[in-house]
Amino acid sequence: MEGGEKRNRNEPSRPGQCRETKDGSTQTDCRIQGHGPRLSKVNLFTLLSLWMEMFPREEEEEEEEDSRQIRGMGLVVVREGKVVGLHCSGPELHAGQAAVLQHGVRLADSQLYFSRRPCATCLKMIINAGVSQISFWPGDPEISMLESAPRPATEEAALDAVATDKLKSNSRPHVCVLLQPPTPDLLQFVNETSRDCDFRERRSEDAEDFNRERVRYLRDFSRRFLVCTAQQHKEILIQMGLENFCAEPYFSNLRHNMRELVEVLAAVAAGVPQHHHGFHREHPGTSSGPHEEVPQQVARHCIIQARLLAYRTEDPKVGVGAVIWAKGKQVGFGGTGRLSLVGCGYNAYPAGSKYAEYPQMDTKQEDRQRRKYRYMIHAEQNALTFRTRDIRAEESTMLFVTKCPCDECIPLIRGAGITHIYTSDQDRDKDKGDISYLRFSSLKDISRFTWQKNPPDSPGASSHLVNGCVGKRSQQPEPETNGNKKLCTKRSSGAPWRGQQSRLPFLKSSGPPALDSQYTSPVL
Ligand SMILES: [Zn+2]
Ligand SMILES: [Zn+2]
Repeated sequence: MEGGEKRNRNEPSRPGQCRETKDGSTQTDCRIQGHGPRLSKVNLFTLLSLWMEMFPREEEEEEEEDSRQIRGMGLVVVREGKVVGLHCSGPELHAGQAAVLQHGVRLADSQLYFSRRPCATCLKMIINAGVSQISFWPGDPEISMLESAPRPATEEAALDAVATDKLKSNSRPHVCVLLQPPTPDLLQFVNETSRDCDFRERRSEDAEDFNRERVRYLRDFSRRFLVCTAQQHKEILIQMGLENFCAEPYFSNLRHNMRELVEVLAAVAAGVPQHHHGFHREHPGTSSGPHEEVPQQVARHCIIQARLLAYRTEDPKVGVGAVIWAKGKQVGFGGTGRLSLVGCGYNAYPAGSKYAEYPQMDTKQEDRQRRKYRYMIHAEQNALTFRTRDIRAEESTMLFVTKCPCDECIPLIRGAGITHIYTSDQDRDKDKGDISYLRFSSLKDISRFTWQKNPPDSPGASSHLVNGCVGKRSQQPEPETNGNKKLCTKRSSGAPWRGQQSRLPFLKSSGPPALDSQYTSPVL
């Protein structure tokens, strides 16, 4: 263990201590001309953990007195750089416990990303399972320390803090805070691409709508993930044994980076409007029972997971994300109920390749753009290849993908046994030369749900996701009568995203901002 036993594992790393890996150096920092800013892996996993904390609950839960002190959490399990588990706390199980139950000893050597510092009950089991690293978001911990919590919670929180600290300092896994400063232009890029994404209508009034929704999310997420005052935040950090983070400039940087990541998450979430739209089943006659579908709020949550993944794309033009969930027969572990993750991915060059080895898109070089398609692994292909478990015939297996599956992917999706596809149909029936989308419409044996404007009298998608809970399961809205109906929107010509020119130039120094790197430790 580096630094010997005495070293505080949360000590901000010195720049020289950063562990370099292939992914960390060649994919996160590399700036290829024409490529938008990307989420680093650490920040992607962190944001996914925050988002998982807000996984919609299927049932209304009676909040018990002492469960109010225990805050729900999200958790991402990563092995060899790939997401192999997405979890959240349920009515009985904490997210950490749910992960131990589902993965068991397969947790060995994995990295865990929590949306809060886990409690001692979770931590001891996770350490025992042999994980290699535990990272947590440095806000209010799982056992709340915020003043608003009832009195006894404070004592319980203090006792838990002592126990977690002891576990932390005596354990093999590295327990730490891994946050990286987002690249300076990432937020603007996410705002623009979310406002103009396939799940929005891209009318001028829609831009205002996007902004309203983004601001509302930002308010909700800030309340949930940020600590309101600096003083309160320092007290929490000290209680968690993170007093090193309270010194300037680390503290201001920490708060700034946390705020910015929350803003990124708000923009990604606002890219899929909550009102007036939803996933609608095509060809309702093919339905094999409404119980196999997921409620609108869950489908929307999953497509936002996919949207987050898309910001890790290696494709210079279009980021695509895909997530596959299976719905089992039995009530599963934790807050995702019967759903368990099968796999997820984004479009990228073949694993292990150096980022710049293959042709990159360049808007002025049409030939190169064409050649790119021979090398790029599609998001669905990555999700299927790196799946974490088998696809079982007796389960519904649902693919959530941010772009209509192309003709190259359709046979793979069918062959793998996917039963449901949730997607945008912006590209369907189009033939773009190198890539075509003609086969999606003819899929007979897979239930297709496309993102559409709700019919005027539809009751669907009306419940809010605020505070991570939805009310009673909302009814699936009436299906579209015309399966081919599309949102009548067109991507603005030419540029893959508007405002591209206004972004900062690429190929500038990619060295880490000096101050922030003091407490970050890019490991993946
Ligand atoms: Zn716990
Ligand atoms: Zn494809």
